[in-house]
Amino acid sequence: MMNHSVIDPLQPHLQTDCSQCFGLCCVALPYAKSADFPCDKPGGSPCRHLQKDYRCGIHDSLRGQGYKGCTVYDCFGAGERVSKQTFGGHSWREDSGTADRMLAVFPVMQQLHEIISYLREIAAAGRTAALHAEAGQAIARLEELAAQPPEALLELDLPAVRAGVNGTLQEASRLVRQQGVAASGRSASALPTRKDFFGANLKGKLWRGANLRGAMLIAANLQKADLRDCDFIGADLRDADLRGADLRGALFLSQMQVNSAKGDAGTRLPPGLRAPGHWA
Ligand code: SF4
Repeated sequence: MMNHSVIDPLQPHLQTDCSQCFGLCCVALPYAKSADFPCDKPGGSPCRHLQKDYRCGIHDSLRGQGYKGCTVYDCFGAGERVSKQTFGGHSWREDSGTADRMLAVFPVMQQLHEIISYLREIAAAGRTAALHAEAGQAIARLEELAAQPPEALLELDLPAVRAGVNGTLQEASRLVRQQGVAASGRSASALPTRKDFFGANLKGKLWRGANLRGAMLIAANLQKADLRDCDFIGADLRDADLRGADLRGALFLSQMQVNSAKGDAGTRLPPGLRAPGHWA
């Protein structure tokens, strides 16, 4: 996992430092026997592979042992913040009262951090300069919410928080995509309007500046596609083939989406996102 503080203002993407977390995702989240996990685990119970030092006992062989889902998940740095800031370094292992609240706060913080991550992309990019002040104010508001004690975090109205920033995200998307289309020299009318591309062969598509919000791209062949300046918020990229694809300038693309796809050394990613180890 990557290694920097969740409050580094220079980084557009909030990233995860598992060494600073009490293994919260390995306890709080449920998983079910599937292509992603070899067995069932209820939410709130520690995974059998979580060690006393909160590290994964099978980290180097997760995929080989059927834990593909663990190599995809990313908490946007929420685990670090909940462990070190919200609970001041006190672990869920210390008492059951702490455990209940900590495990409940973790998914709330994960969602807050996801929204903050999108806003930081806007605040960091020159192409969305018109929205820098607006995004900066929204980040400050959300950081205040994220810094609250556990009880207040558990009472947060997350749909209202999302609704409060939706206009800023939509306008950023419009600006970035518009600039992408202009730079491509092609007409916006050539870009896709539908969202369902399950298993579709989209090899080499010239989709610079496309709106792929919420698009279903599971197992789609996007090899060598031009996906620069596309909006990927909420897009499902599980097992999408991004080998040789160009995603530079892609907006609201998360590390988890990248982790869930296939890629190679020829896949171009936006700054702050990394090629996962299983692409090698
Ligand atoms: S297998 Fe490892 S990474 Fe996955 S939930 Fe268990 S301890 Fe966490």
